[in-house]
Amino acid sequence: MNKVDYLRISLIDRCNFRCRYCVPDDAELQYLLTPELLTNDEIVTLLREVFIPTGFRKFRLTGGEPLLRPNLVELVAAIAQLPEVEDLSMTTNAFLLENLAADLYEAGLNRLNISLDSLNQETFDQIIGNYGKSRWEPTWRGILAAYDAGFNPLKLNVVVIPGVNDHEVLDLAALTLERNWHVRFIEFMPIGNGELFDERTWIPSEELRQRIRKKWGLTEGQIQGNGPADVFQIPGAKGTVGFISQMSECFCDRCNRMRLSADGWLRPCLLNESDQIDLKSALRSNVSTEVLRDKVKYLLEIKPDVNFKLRDMGTDQGQYSRTMSQIGG
Ligand code: SAM
Ligand code: SF4
Repeated sequence: MNKVDYLRISLIDRCNFRCRYCVPDDAELQYLLTPELLTNDEIVTLLREVFIPTGFRKFRLTGGEPLLRPNLVELVAAIAQLPEVEDLSMTTNAFLLENLAADLYEAGLNRLNISLDSLNQETFDQIIGNYGKSRWEPTWRGILAAYDAGFNPLKLNVVVIPGVNDHEVLDLAALTLERNWHVRFIEFMPIGNGELFDERTWIPSEELRQRIRKKWGLTEGQIQGNGPADVFQIPGAKGTVGFISQMSECFCDRCNRMRLSADGWLRPCLLNESDQIDLKSALRSNVSTEVLRDKVKYLLEIKPDVNFKLRDMGTDQGQYSRTMSQIGG
């Protein structure tokens, strides 16, 4: 059985982008109100008293857009100071990163994954939503600021959508030639914006690898991460290219993670809502942390049996309407 030691913590369900693959075009999303969010103290208490004692050691902060969370740097510092924390990382769209990267690094954030779906301003805006002024430049400056601040290697996540950004796969892979960046291509999942999903809206990773192989060749990467990406390298490149192939090569069986939503629900699997537990209400009604630990241990026990199989997506069983930003991607 897989050791489950990795917790993804959603800090906020709001986002300043509306990526087409994440948020339905016409969605009127209901956002959580501030009192419904776990507070910084509650998050730290849950980690110290509940998750660390039950074996969790790696934590990723996400959202929605985590950089929208007030007092984020203080929260990062408080988590980084917990002695048992082995890895503290964050996934962000980088739009607000330019002014925060150095402070986050100083506060103890170890690693950053940044979503960047296009190098072309127009395509980028077409994917993230049009806000009048392009958001590509500030995003790119955020990425460079992160690199300058010391986040090395830097991971860039690209969700590949046929006909929208798949023609840029080679340009995005080329970023790794001169920089020690890890560019990871993610197969689009039919979550949130189901209408975008049909046979043509995701491209199997192997097809992308073939395109890259044809241009430069591709070797198995020297460093395989401990996450779901298969890592490769263009010969002579400084960085790597990774492929997250949850649609074509379901890796649910080796899943090592659980997810905590911004309002304190712990779910054993990205898509399992029926077995989730409400840690925030329990904490606020003074349920002892010992009882909370038992609840988490129970979820750890049942997790292998309740993992939702992504390969069921698109079947009746696989209809799923919440967005990644709501779940906490
Ligand atoms: N806002 C941050 C960001 O975009 O990096 C963090 C949250 S976002 C939900 C986390 C990751 O989920 C991003 O890398 C995004 O590309 C990915 N994601 C969202 N919807 C997806 C989908 N339908 N299929 C595949 N990946 C998706
Ligand atoms: Fe895009 Fe991330 Fe926001 Fe979703 S949560 S809309 S992936 S930036």
